[in-house]
Amino acid sequence: MIKIWILTSMLFLSLFGAHKHFSIYKKQGNTKGNTLLVIGGIHGNEPGGYFAPSILATRYKIIKGALWVVPNLNFDSDLRNRRGMYGDMNRKFAYIKPNDRDFKIIKDIKKIILDSRVDLILNLHDGHGFYREAWENSIFNPSAWGQACIIDQKNIDSKKFGRLSDIANSVARELNQKLVKNRHIFNVKNTHTKFKDEQMRLSLTYFAIIHNKPAFAIETSKNIKQLYQKVFYQLRAIEGFMRKMGIKYSRDFKLNPIEIKKILKQYGVVTINGNTIIDLDDVKSRLRYFPIKKRDNDIKGENPLLAILKRGKYFDVMIGNKKITTLMPDYKKQERCLKTIPMIIDGQKKSISVPSIVKVANSFSTNIDKKYRINVIGFSKKGIKNENSITIKKRDIVSKYAMDSKSRKFRIEIYYQDRYCGMVVVNFN
Ligand SMILES: [Zn+2]
Repeated sequence: MIKIWILTSMLFLSLFGAHKHFSIYKKQGNTKGNTLLVIGGIHGNEPGGYFAPSILATRYKIIKGALWVVPNLNFDSDLRNRRGMYGDMNRKFAYIKPNDRDFKIIKDIKKIILDSRVDLILNLHDGHGFYREAWENSIFNPSAWGQACIIDQKNIDSKKFGRLSDIANSVARELNQKLVKNRHIFNVKNTHTKFKDEQMRLSLTYFAIIHNKPAFAIETSKNIKQLYQKVFYQLRAIEGFMRKMGIKYSRDFKLNPIEIKKILKQYGVVTINGNTIIDLDDVKSRLRYFPIKKRDNDIKGENPLLAILKRGKYFDVMIGNKKITTLMPDYKKQERCLKTIPMIIDGQKKSISVPSIVKVANSFSTNIDKKYRINVIGFSKKGIKNENSITIKKRDIVSKYAMDSKSRKFRIEIYYQDRYCGMVVVNFN
């Protein structure tokens, strides 16, 4: 019996990949003050709700007070653009079965919500339509959720920030001073959860307010097609709450839709297994013969929404619900045999980290011990198996083997006997 259970659970793992937990970023200012907890990604098909906190986690600095950010609460679902792989996570806060696949996530986030340091909580969504108090049509009406600040009731019995309705209205008024389109106007929706909304009694914000923690949901609209506009509104709303709470912050960009559009395309670099590197900012949709392990790949990157999903024979590199590239694997035994490699770049001797991306103006060669074998992907010379100590220029490499769309970045792979040791990427610019 036990054996069968183990087999089924392994099958699940191989079908769906390992169950991914959320991450938390805690930013503390030098001066003490209130703490805001921002939770994104509870619904995987609501990308405004997770790309905004991803920018919050990486591009904001807190000067006074504190900001805690969970960008990817339902990470498995965010990566697959599904509302909830294991059911609606926002209906599991009143009760959850111990065998529910979201059990640990719910348990852990509840503990953070109830942390005595947390003064206010925001839960981010993209909702249907545009909320209006009066019925206009099927998109603009009282049962829509989009472009609204949601409260469960008017006030709660909390010393700080208990006047939920006043706070939400004030943030919405401020938000409405900068709209991309007039119809994007924000309103406050009170669900009167305790008396009217049975479903919402199971939600994250209701769990918070019954524990006297001020909580709000921010809903941008699924009917706004441009992700950058939704993220712009989410960040404006979050900043509005930070101002209300006296949290002082700085960011390294101007908050406007055009800047957000640029930032959303900055994916950063990913390193795999500590020996392999890809610049995700410009990468082809497929990378062939890519050195990767069958399982247990160790992924590190700058973007909080980065993950690698195995789909059939291939590996998809994901940033949230966006597929950045597909790796077509070349499975080889792996070992981290060396940390640096001696190279000659544009005539100068250098020691280059493995893995890294190195700029080359004109030419490069590796200059490593004979026991290693060098393979420059896209370069070949008759009769030569080890491409070490050959001076190579861009024109010597077949451009279709480049990693990027501009055909500037090429892979140098280092081998020791039958083992793959690591990679350096040369970037001709
Ligand atoms: Zn939602």
